[in-house]
Amino acid sequence: MLFENLKKNKKIYEFDWKDKLIIAGPCTFGSYEELLDIAKELKKRNINFLRAGTFKMRTSPYSYQGLRDEGMEILLRIKKELGLHIVTELTSIEQVKKYGKLVDIIQIGARNMFNYELLKEVGKTNTPVILKRGLCATYEEWFLAAEYILKEGNNNIILCERGIRNNNSNETRNVLDIQAVPYVKHNTNFRIIVDPSHASGLSYMVPDTSKASLACGADGLLIEVHTEPDKSLCDKNQTINFADLDKILDFKERINEYEN
Ligand code: PEP
Ligand code: MN
Repeated sequence: MLFENLKKNKKIYEFDWKDKLIIAGPCTFGSYEELLDIAKELKKRNINFLRAGTFKMRTSPYSYQGLRDEGMEILLRIKKELGLHIVTELTSIEQVKKYGKLVDIIQIGARNMFNYELLKEVGKTNTPVILKRGLCATYEEWFLAAEYILKEGNNNIILCERGIRNNNSNETRNVLDIQAVPYVKHNTNFRIIVDPSHASGLSYMVPDTSKASLACGADGLLIEVHTEPDKSLCDKNQTINFADLDKILDFKERINEYEN
């Protein structure tokens, strides 16, 4: 039955959620050294989850597509060397079969939220999944996509609001649907995090929208950060520096004190 698994009182996820889940890192990367520099900055701040895409879903086939398998080796090397948890997008059934058990959280990107065969494959793993909301998906479509994963037996699902398409505004990339946070909390048992980077597409908005998301009850954030944002190979306009990340982390501590 639809939504059967979404009802309250069913334990969905096993993380300790007393602290907000902070996942940060570059959109993508071009070398081991580049990713290592960023990973070290995360470590300094006790951030345990490194995000970085290596199989990139670019709108244009002429844009940088990521280091792909070579990048996965780099990610797994950094996981081993620094003891960080790796969060990365997998875009095909083949990739899920190959890497699904090796990464710590599989990211399903907005463009693949409707890729039901991929969702089923992810459902066959026990690896936690971040399911991003589709580019203009309704809540129902989003929850049913999660249901595809659940139905195969994987209940480690975290929803991620990442902004939805709006009125074709050129000023911001998307609109952050902050209402998704209380909606998910009130109506489902899923955890929900917010990606403020893809929501606005503008780095100067990321600290404020991060704070708003945490204040609104989000369980965490997925943020694009780089030691040198201008050198980002992808999404540099929305990538923040570590000084800005520190402001967000400071706010997170205050929210933790308030909530716990
Ligand atoms: C990303 O997180 O780098 C990404 C591609 O996000 P989305 O799928 O939300 O566009
Ligand atoms: Mn990106």
